[in-house]
Amino acid sequence: MPARNALVRLNDYYEVYSPADPETARAEGGRCMNCGAAFCMPDSGYGPAGNIGCPLGNKIPEWNELVHLGRWRDAFKRLSQTNPFPEFTARVCPAPCEDACIHGINEQPVQIKGIERAIIDRAFQEGWVTPSRSAPAEAPHIGIVGSGPAGLSAAQELTRMRYRVTVYERDDKPGGLLRYGVPNMKLDKQILDRRIKLIQDSGVVFRVGCEIGRDITADELRAQHSAIILACGAKHARDLRLPGRGLRGIHQAMDYLTDSMRALDAGTPPRINAKGKRVAVIGAGDTGADCVATALRQGAADIINLANGPMPPDERAPGFHWPGPTGSLRTDYAHRESIAIRGQDPRHWRANTLAFEPSEAEPDTVGYLAIQNGEAKPQQIAVDLVILSVGFTGHNMQHLVDQFEQADVACPVFIAGDMARGPSLVVHAIAEGRQAAQTVHTVAKDLD
Ligand SMILES: Cc1cc2nc3c(=O)[nH]c(=O)nc-3n(C[C@H](O)[C@H](O)[C@H](O)COP(=O)(O)OP(=O)(O)OC[C@H]3O[C@@H](n4cnc5c(N)ncnc54)[C@H](O)[C@@H]3O)c2cc1C
Ligand code: SF4
Repeated sequence: MPARNALVRLNDYYEVYSPADPETARAEGGRCMNCGAAFCMPDSGYGPAGNIGCPLGNKIPEWNELVHLGRWRDAFKRLSQTNPFPEFTARVCPAPCEDACIHGINEQPVQIKGIERAIIDRAFQEGWVTPSRSAPAEAPHIGIVGSGPAGLSAAQELTRMRYRVTVYERDDKPGGLLRYGVPNMKLDKQILDRRIKLIQDSGVVFRVGCEIGRDITADELRAQHSAIILACGAKHARDLRLPGRGLRGIHQAMDYLTDSMRALDAGTPPRINAKGKRVAVIGAGDTGADCVATALRQGAADIINLANGPMPPDERAPGFHWPGPTGSLRTDYAHRESIAIRGQDPRHWRANTLAFEPSEAEPDTVGYLAIQNGEAKPQQIAVDLVILSVGFTGHNMQHLVDQFEQADVACPVFIAGDMARGPSLVVHAIAEGRQAAQTVHTVAKDLD
């Protein structure tokens, strides 16, 4: 998929990648070998399902072939059989299917994600994506807590199977981390709103600004529904409990990104603003990259991104065997932007943070980071804003789980997405939301 020029896109928050043109997608589909054991799909029988290839079980070689033949509508139908939201995965998925593609052994894998994007963009343009029929009034009524990709996919699957569904969301708008986590540069919020409207048009009711466990108790919820799916995410961030952590100017990545996206949505300046500041992002994973890209757009004076591990190799790393992830150096959109504007990759490898130190002018605010590069002597870096992006530890919903365990009213409760498996990927959340919906359906004969 072509990326917009880095120096141009740094002036806005529009998406980085545009769709591949149909002819390129057709040619790329033609590279697919329709392998007998297609490692891009877990149901090829290789390895434990979900760990290799597409966790959704997408029938990739089939739609590759259909695109190659120019049978776009059939390709869309085949894709929709397994993926309810290709417009999300085609934008944000790290594409484990491409890591597993057999072409990848000795050349470029088939660009599966680009083909998926071409199919779904065309489907929306042609008007092929339509809401499901609403459920009859007497259908069992299922409650879903959380409107991230897991909750949305459960809602879509249940409504397709003709259940009545209400989704409860404590935030002001539905979408979970798709709305207030993944930045607009990766997923334009109009794409999210378009899908939510389709789900609403299928009869699903969204109750936003409603926290289950506080505004509605577990007992009250169970009394209103035949079954419940909890899909509350896992946003409990890992902290860096180092000397000086209490200083002002140190923020968690989620707080920083959420604040930035809310501000964009509202058209107001962000509360945590990198403008004119020397920024250090600690942690060089995908979320760290999103923080770098956001700080660049806010006009940071300087940005460094600290990783405590060594720099990965350019080729597949030792111990990272095909068909799993490559473990090689990934230069993401944010790093390319930093290279374009500053001439250097913002990442510093083997950089271990030792302490946060105060600024001379404002002793309650961070002014320096003490870091150590490998065996070298510790050094100080001047900073005005520090973003912690060192991972998530799980959900902080024990109070809610306890309420459900102690609830007097019986009705089956299922759990899906990050809340069930820990911090993961959108594609896993979508897959688990569907599975939870299908499990509700299998026990449906016992529901009211
Ligand atoms: C900054 C960031 C960037 C990411 N980028 C990517 C990416 O590019 N690609 C990718 O594949 N993955 C990415 N991820 C991971 C991905 O976003 C998550 O794995 C996915 O969103 C999990 O989906 P979910 O539905 O389980 O939970 P969430 O998306 O977290 O949604 C949970 C929802 O439940 C709501 N909720 C919680 N408790 C209650 C309650 N008691 N009552 C009502 N509502 C409640 C929350 O408000 C939230 O809206 C990223 C994560 C982060 C943090
Ligand atoms: S592994 Fe690659 S080449 Fe083989 S079927 Fe899947 S996408 Fe096609």
